[in-house]
Amino acid sequence: MIVRMDRVFRLLIVVMALVPAAPHAQNPAATLIINASIVDGTGSAARAGAVRIQGDRIREVGTLTARAGETVVDAKGLTLTPGFIDTHSHHDRGLFDQRDLLAAVNQGITTIVVGQDGGSSHPLKDFFARLESSPASVNVASYVGHGTVRRQVMGADFKRAATPQEVSRMEGLLRAGMEAGALGLSSGLEYDPGIYSDPSELIALAKAVAPFAGRYISHVRSEDRTFWKAIDEAITIGREAKIPVQISHLKLGMRSLWGETDRLIRTMEAARASGVALTADIYPYTFWQSGMTVLFPNRDFTNRAEAEFALREVTSPDGLLITRIAKIPAYEGKTLAEVARLRSVDAPQVMMDLIRETDGDIGIVATGMDEADVVTLLKLPFANICSDGTANGGHPRGYGTFARVLGRYVREGKVLSLPDAIRKMTSLSAENVGLKDRGGLRAGSYADLVLFDPAEIIDRSTTSDPKALSAGIKSVWVNGQLVFEEGRTTKAYPGRVLRRQ
Ligand SMILES: [Zn+2]
Repeated sequence: MIVRMDRVFRLLIVVMALVPAAPHAQNPAATLIINASIVDGTGSAARAGAVRIQGDRIREVGTLTARAGETVVDAKGLTLTPGFIDTHSHHDRGLFDQRDLLAAVNQGITTIVVGQDGGSSHPLKDFFARLESSPASVNVASYVGHGTVRRQVMGADFKRAATPQEVSRMEGLLRAGMEAGALGLSSGLEYDPGIYSDPSELIALAKAVAPFAGRYISHVRSEDRTFWKAIDEAITIGREAKIPVQISHLKLGMRSLWGETDRLIRTMEAARASGVALTADIYPYTFWQSGMTVLFPNRDFTNRAEAEFALREVTSPDGLLITRIAKIPAYEGKTLAEVARLRSVDAPQVMMDLIRETDGDIGIVATGMDEADVVTLLKLPFANICSDGTANGGHPRGYGTFARVLGRYVREGKVLSLPDAIRKMTSLSAENVGLKDRGGLRAGSYADLVLFDPAEIIDRSTTSDPKALSAGIKSVWVNGQLVFEEGRTTKAYPGRVLRRQ
């Protein structure tokens, strides 16, 4: 009997733990944020005011006074904006092990758009179902990856053009993803297996998403050697399939392309004027992150001329940092130049040797862009901000991107005005990926919000400390719930799956 009572008591404790904390007496989820400088994401100037959140929505915006029972947050004049939408995110990697997603929320991100560069969770329906039973702190939308469906259909035999039968099977898988709520088709044409596809394959698949009002987003076939052809390919896909095209992480990634922003902008504007809904996203760094093998577009890893070209034009021995090399971990954190000195061989040779010794499994951060180009492209009116980041990568963008733009390019560099930068992180981002009801701050919109100090906001993450938290972000709400405050996640998981509308 005593044992039984003990078991009952323990059961009671468990039940009590499962019941949520008592809701507020009168108004279960009303929060009033007062004394805010509101930047609403449309590009309009800041205005002073208050925001009332009720449930998952913004109820009122304006001059408001607290009601009995409301939680009042005094913004003390700091800036309140819509939550940031990261249109090119890899924060889904390891998501279910870190659902609070400190990497994203510490920089004000409230929605991540994943399934990028041709790679998505498969089947998407199952990923969405899992997210709905174990939600994250942030909202998640996804594309269907071209590489993912290509791998499903072609398996290991992917180093060739697909047959018409294979393309039609890919279309079937893609349609299933669209029915599950994908935003469209993503490609990563510098990567396996997408690099082996014929442009006609992409056009066929893009046409398959058109009836769903889907879109195309692309890490284009080349960001260096055959860049102009790659941009033309993306534009052609949009024109043929009559769907919007977003160029991922827009950049001029080769020394001899540096300074050609005028030509790039003219090309993009001409496409837009001709009726292709062409847009882009961009991150604020002169260095990218990828695998070392991407430096060999013909996958000829023993071709010394290609290695020399890559180290002269695309990056440099000092600018190539090894972030991950599981087989030779002693080299992690070293540049290629350092490894070359350790081995007493030259840099092109060590690059070829390392690829051979590791079967190409090497993660790198490589400096390859020009700061002046980054500045020019950040200002492009139809380009929104993205991170391209992960929670566990060696690139600081995973933790710092949005704070970096607001600190270094708005406050310090005056490259963008604050309202325009916020527009490029919210409403424009939503528009560029087709999210219809996020990215705004007005009565009726979802209460995804960021409160930050514009005088203090800055990224702290670097290649040597990629997980350092940003400064200046005070509070972040997702669907009306606080997910981040003063450097800490709250372990609330209000994020939703955002399906195509
Ligand atoms: Zn990419």
